Amino acid sequence: MDARSQRIYLSALGTPLYRRRSREAAPDDPTAPAMESQPPLLEEEGGDYGPLAPEGREGALAALREEVAGCTACPLHESRTQTVFGVGDPHARVMFVGEAPGGEEDRRGEPFVGRAGQLLDAMLASLGLDRKEGGVFIANVLKCRPPNNRDPKPEEVAQCAGYLRRQIELVQPRVLVALGRVAAQQLLGSQQPLARLRGQEHRFHETPVLVTYHPAYLLRNPADKAKAWEDLKAVRRRAAGD
Ligand code: SF4
Repeated sequence: MDARSQRIYLSALGTPLYRRRSREAAPDDPTAPAMESQPPLLEEEGGDYGPLAPEGREGALAALREEVAGCTACPLHESRTQTVFGVGDPHARVMFVGEAPGGEEDRRGEPFVGRAGQLLDAMLASLGLDRKEGGVFIANVLKCRPPNNRDPKPEEVAQCAGYLRRQIELVQPRVLVALGRVAAQQLLGSQQPLARLRGQEHRFHETPVLVTYHPAYLLRNPADKAKAWEDLKAVRRRAAGD
């Protein structure tokens, strides 16, 4: 990782360059508390989409975006301004997965905007990625905003899971990065806290999955920024094929 990328990220985080890492156990991510009995995305019924030639990704993603835009499968469609499908490169090496749109995302139709989005962009820059220039795709587990930014309900996740699964199948990233505990638990079919899921490589089918903090959590908990930096270095190594 070059020094400039490191400075971009650390500057955005307000983290001293050589900050000593905390020896304390990582606290769990309060932005994404555990949900009961969530079925993993892997085991959700989502339809048989079948294989797709690489040149068809753009078209298939556009068609999926249309499908999501008209989705009324769960009650969240009643309160949304619009669906938030995701953004990025159909051939991305790295795919970030968050929890659900917030208020600003619901208004703008794009994931991770506002302060948390700015921090995510800085994290991307540290990896040499830019959501507008390629190499990365950003999506959420849920495509519609839960009212008052409440936690997703298991039945909502169950209804929406097939869309994210299809996005992953189409983009075929080298590595998935789960942002926060809800995204991690859904991708991995785990009830483990974030502290236990970080720092090791998991799998979503054949795709490696790494877990880190949600940017909104990092904004509130700057003590964990250095640990997020360690996570990002692992992402960079995986994206490079190391
Ligand atoms: S959250 Fe997902 S399943 Fe529910 S209405 Fe929105 S797109 Fe459909």
